[in-house]
Amino acid sequence: MKLLIADDDKISAILLRKHASACGFEPIIVHNGEEAYGQLSREDGPRIAILDWMMPGITGVDIVQKIRAGKKDDKASHYLIVLTARSEKEDIVAALNAGADDYIVKPFDPGELKARLEAGKRILTLTDHLTKALDKAKRLSDFIAHFDQTTGLPNYLSLLERIESVQASPGFHALFLINLDNFKIINQIYGIGNGDLVLNYAGALIKQALGDNVFVSRATADEYAAILPLDGQDADVLNNQILARADKIHEVFSRPFAVEDDLITMTVSIGVSIITEGIENNSDEFLRRADFALKRAKTAGGNRTEIHDFKAEQELQQRYKLERELKAAIEQEEIKMFLQPQCTKDGKAVAVEALARWIHPEKGLVSPGIFIPIAEQSDLIMAIGESMLEQACRLLVDTEDLGFSVSINVSPKQFQDPNYVDFVRSMISKTGADASRIILEVTEGLLIQDVDSIIGKMKLLAECGINFSVDDFGTGYSSLIYLKRLPIKELKIDRAFVKDLPHDKNDRAIVESIIAIARHMGFKLVAEGVETDEQVRFLASRGDMLYQGYYFAKPAPAREILKKYF
Ligand code: C2E
Ligand code: CA
Ligand code: CA
Repeated sequence: MKLLIADDDKISAILLRKHASACGFEPIIVHNGEEAYGQLSREDGPRIAILDWMMPGITGVDIVQKIRAGKKDDKASHYLIVLTARSEKEDIVAALNAGADDYIVKPFDPGELKARLEAGKRILTLTDHLTKALDKAKRLSDFIAHFDQTTGLPNYLSLLERIESVQASPGFHALFLINLDNFKIINQIYGIGNGDLVLNYAGALIKQALGDNVFVSRATADEYAAILPLDGQDADVLNNQILARADKIHEVFSRPFAVEDDLITMTVSIGVSIITEGIENNSDEFLRRADFALKRAKTAGGNRTEIHDFKAEQELQQRYKLERELKAAIEQEEIKMFLQPQCTKDGKAVAVEALARWIHPEKGLVSPGIFIPIAEQSDLIMAIGESMLEQACRLLVDTEDLGFSVSINVSPKQFQDPNYVDFVRSMISKTGADASRIILEVTEGLLIQDVDSIIGKMKLLAECGINFSVDDFGTGYSSLIYLKRLPIKELKIDRAFVKDLPHDKNDRAIVESIIAIARHMGFKLVAEGVETDEQVRFLASRGDMLYQGYYFAKPAPAREILKKYF
């Protein structure tokens, strides 16, 4: 062990060196404070020192103070013995207070010197042991903090750190979130112990698919995350690399494996986001995007990969926003009934269709083509349907002497509601509207499921006097057999078939067939979307019907329509 001897008294220094060497130390001698401090500050310098108090320039006690004022970790790294000619108690206390570990009084006794040096050596050795043990404990706790116990893979914390570190590096990286489809069932059937084995195995499979160099971590219970470097910049090139790697993962999972005595197969859903440089994106954001893609993969049925798509996300967010706004609009009664007349070929209005309009405070008039599909997916359609029927019934009561009929659109979801018949009946009795002036417009799609119950409901409503019309006839699934069984009075020729009349050969043929069906089955006809004189003339030459379209009238608020057409 190196020993620093700092003493300006050369004889004293030589004596110290002699005795210290005899005790097995390797002495280094300096004669002033600056040099002593320089030696002690070196990385590989001596760690035990005898420092003479009285030296020119920096004193021994000054050195002690400077060393102790250094970095925290270094405080215990040196064993410092102050050499003093003064034997007064106060001086010794001052040296110890300054941070000295021990002291020797000149002239020294060799036996005492040896004993004090050896005490120092023992303490330094002990310090080293403790430092090493602490290091080891720290590494262990670091490991525990960064690794998952079940799979031995890096954990969520590691993942966050890794995302941040690749984000700081140039180029693109893909963040994969890999979720086991139906892991819960495995856990339930085979128990948690086997569940853990499966999790372990799944982690290994992912590593196998992606290669040992790829960072794979366990993100949450049955979800893994991987980070892969990508080559190139072009979106298609990046996406192809991602899909190729994802395919490898799906492939390794396609092989069956044994759990207890069973062979089972597991599938995974994968959501991917691309990690890019840039400060505005934190690691949470990339995880959120990958998770969004993963949700899409899951909702699409699982066992597939989805790459985060900004456009899809924005669309979805806009949809959610619109849905919230629509909900508020319904509560504030901003959904208003517009009417569009249905006319004879001479332009005389004899009926109207009620069309919903959303009067949006900023956007103005929002078309039902936008908000009805949203309403249909979220149950808001029930409230809209209720409000439209109520507004239509009130209109009927207000126009009792006019006698025209009002067609009201009914979405399949509304009609399938078990309370629908009761709801319509009670609305009619509540308002006192004449049911025989109501035409409910249903679509062919309504008859896809549970036909008998739908027919039953239609019959119940027909018994109250309500009429039915098939909207957008010919655009959906239709069965002439069902048509015969339904209490239907009218078919509506969809605008899509009218639009290119009379020039389009196919549309001509379709429209002629619909007219023939109506004639044979005794249905009335309404042609929708009639915009030109030519269309009216063509249709009128083929059959008897009503015309609903911009050629005669555009949808407008009820009051306007009543004033202008009735
Ligand atoms: P729909 O029942 O087929 O209604 C006819 C649509 O064609 C209406 O669009 C009408 O404005 C439009 N139209 C009528 N004549 C012409 C024309 O000459 N040219 C053109 N280009 N378009 C014409 P709107 O009002 O935007 O309604 C769209 C769809 O929204 C409706 O199609 C209907 O399916 C649905 N809808 C509207 N109101 C309601 C409602 O109260 N309840 C339900 N469930 N659906 C509704
Ligand atoms: Ca309609
Ligand atoms: Ca229609």
